[in-house]
Amino acid sequence: MRHTSKADVVLIGAGIMSATLGMLLKQLEPSLRIKVIEKLDTAAAESSDAWNNAGTGHSAFCELNYTPEKEDGTIDISKALKIAESFEVSKQFWSYLVKNNFIKNPGNFIHSIPHISFVWGDANVAFLHKRYDALQQNGLFRQMQFSDDAATIKKWIPLVMDGRADDSKVAATKMNLGTDVNFGALTRDIFEQLSKMTDVEMHFGFEVSNIHKHDNYWQIEVKDETTDEKNYIVTKFVFIGAGGGALPLLIKSGIPEAEGYGGFPVSGQWLRCNNEAVIEQHFAKVYGLAKVGSPPMSVPHLDTRWIKGKRELLFGPYAGFTTKFLKHGSSMDLFKSVKFSNLKPLVSAGIHNIPLTQYLIEQVMQSDEERLDALKEYYPEATMKDWELNEAGYRVQVIKKDDEKGGILEFGTEVVHSSDGSIAALLGASPGASTAVSIMLELIKKCFPEKSVSSGWIEKLNHIIPSYGKRLSDDEVLMQKIRSETHKQLGLALI
Ligand SMILES: Cc1cc2nc3c(=O)[nH]c(=O)nc-3n(C[C@H](O)[C@H](O)[C@H](O)COP(=O)(O)OP(=O)(O)OC[C@H]3O[C@@H](n4cnc5c(N)ncnc54)[C@H](O)[C@@H]3O)c2cc1C
Repeated sequence: MRHTSKADVVLIGAGIMSATLGMLLKQLEPSLRIKVIEKLDTAAAESSDAWNNAGTGHSAFCELNYTPEKEDGTIDISKALKIAESFEVSKQFWSYLVKNNFIKNPGNFIHSIPHISFVWGDANVAFLHKRYDALQQNGLFRQMQFSDDAATIKKWIPLVMDGRADDSKVAATKMNLGTDVNFGALTRDIFEQLSKMTDVEMHFGFEVSNIHKHDNYWQIEVKDETTDEKNYIVTKFVFIGAGGGALPLLIKSGIPEAEGYGGFPVSGQWLRCNNEAVIEQHFAKVYGLAKVGSPPMSVPHLDTRWIKGKRELLFGPYAGFTTKFLKHGSSMDLFKSVKFSNLKPLVSAGIHNIPLTQYLIEQVMQSDEERLDALKEYYPEATMKDWELNEAGYRVQVIKKDDEKGGILEFGTEVVHSSDGSIAALLGASPGASTAVSIMLELIKKCFPEKSVSSGWIEKLNHIIPSYGKRLSDDEVLMQKIRSETHKQLGLALI
């Protein structure tokens, strides 16, 4: 039997994005009736789960693709500043959740871990030095250390240095303020608290199969995954936080702003270390440079992780070709997403990115030996018996219209929303979960403009996020004060 219910807000998908938005909205307006619809039987089982992403608290401390070298040889640090500021905002929100007892134990989801960039070869060493010098100009990166002395680097990352040729020219930067974040644990902690709040309902095992606009409300069609029965929810606001599943739903919404958007899925794999003695010897997230011609998401890294209270060691991700939009998705996802409205951008982006597609297909076809060779660049004495291959999460990169090229492929995240602010979707996956709070604050500003101004929301946001509306990269004193408070609250390193 068909059943229709009402909500003020529907959040589609139970990943970190919906969790963040739901919690923020409930703090701003406790009377909101929120329904969360998730097709799987638990929260954070797609990209937000710890095994599906790298768990790097992206702060641009070690990710070299956030500081490109310009044609004149100088380093552009604008993206690094934005990402570092966004992560400071995330830490403020999480500190608020801890301070207010929404999260009991921050050690369940966040740990300090040095973030290290490591490069070899003259040109790369020169680049790293320039990057370090440029970042030193800003307080956000003041504690970063640089070394091109092999003995010093060996102290920082012995696994990476042991067995390396004595004459190889290497350099590294180290930032002790880096973090490893278990976004899955964080998402589940937030939803656990949200589900206890008045007027919040979580529905697992239900898939949103369609979205229609009727006058001034949205009708959400929800399919029970067990019985196939369809029910409906009517709501004034809907957030499509469905990760890789967001694009198909955005297209179904029919809003003009969605026109021309397409998706390019990329799968991922890790090598997971199963030798405790090796895991114990590494204590860092070590990021290198992506190979020339390879996409930014294929930057290799050797990562210490904390998952379910245990230290782990992962290498990867190895990006690969897929036609699925979600790990639990269908091989038809890519083909079904092709519509008349996005055909031109898809074809144009496809033509311009043939080398990328070739690269991804080659990556999927790699043998164990080839994967081991890639690992050995970071851990020269690695042996395959200590490692097993695991599937990572999937990312759907954004394809959009472009006046000049017809269509372009982008590697960032993008919020697409209707002009009346009644529906918004998050597309793309990078820098992703680390910047969830900033992304959702921006979404709130765009979708609830009048509330933001007249209903006391700004005052509340200033309380939740002390740096709200301020640029921490311009105010070192405030940044240091906030950083030391959040690090204390979250149990993180202070220097
Ligand atoms: C390999 C890899 C490495 C990454 N590394 C990092 C990193 O180091 N640091 C970082 O900050 N970010 C990283 N990211 C990005 C980060 O994981 C994502 O940005 C983030 O998890 C996205 O969260 P989300 O809530 O949008 O999506 P998800 O966590 O994917 O959640 C979407 C949910 O929607 C559900 N859903 C889908 N369709 C429907 C539907 N029709 N009806 C109902 N439910 C639906 C899904 O089942 C899923 O539970 C990485 C991603 C990948 C893939």
